[in-house]
Amino acid sequence: MLIKTVSPDATPSLVRKFCIGLFSLIFPDDCRICEQPLRQVSRVPVCPACLAKPEPLTAEYFCAQCRAPFRNAFPLDEQGLCALCRRGVSGFDAAYSYGFYEGDLRELIHLFKYGRVQTLAKPLGRFLALALPREESFDAIVPMPLHWRKRWQRGFNQADLLAREISRRTHTPVRHALRRVRFTATQAGLTNAKRRQNVSGAFRAKGEQALRGQRVLVVDDVMTTGSTAAACARALKMAGARQVVLLTLARTDRRIGFDLQLRDSNYFGSTEHAQS
Ligand SMILES: [Zn+2]
Ligand SMILES: [Zn+2]
Repeated sequence: MLIKTVSPDATPSLVRKFCIGLFSLIFPDDCRICEQPLRQVSRVPVCPACLAKPEPLTAEYFCAQCRAPFRNAFPLDEQGLCALCRRGVSGFDAAYSYGFYEGDLRELIHLFKYGRVQTLAKPLGRFLALALPREESFDAIVPMPLHWRKRWQRGFNQADLLAREISRRTHTPVRHALRRVRFTATQAGLTNAKRRQNVSGAFRAKGEQALRGQRVLVVDDVMTTGSTAAACARALKMAGARQVVLLTLARTDRRIGFDLQLRDSNYFGSTEHAQS
């Protein structure tokens, strides 16, 4: 038998919601990054100063093929190719990122993704737009898919929200052309070779030749070794894509010793830093 209970605050809940809404309008929160009181009423709980802080990456070295940036020449061979392109496994034609995955940019991405502040998609989308060269144009924008389990846990796919922002700015349609078919283990703490093993075959295109002849822009929040992006690019090319370009907010810096640091999962502060 169902017993209906009336909680004491069930009736005035609308009034309460209204009051809380009004209160937060008059007394906005503190900035979730610097904790200074927010002076402007905004749906984004981060102050304009903190939103302006992340700097575009300044790298002196780029892979000659995928344009992945590096702070020194160590990961590049004599032809100027990065390890992925050297082994012919990158699969994507170019990879653009706004900044390095550190400092203010990393904090904003954490707040967006793990703090679930979805309204950050808009200001973060601005960084993506800045990272994309003006001469590039695409037929479709594909958000990096999340496995349904992870999407369910988080409640949204951060890449989806970012893709929508870029779509709005470039007037290019978003296509959910890929599916994540395997729940891949978390990437943090794995060696590069293990990472590739972990994600290879993790993607399936929805429909054969669904992207025939198209130039595709894949959007994601963070690029680490590029092995997830490479697996994704391969699946898109199998679906007929002519060109696959990756656009991310941030990429990890592959300096000397970075691979060693990767094995220590504490390097990322926690093991939450996965492939997605
Ligand atoms: Zn702030
Ligand atoms: Zn490369």
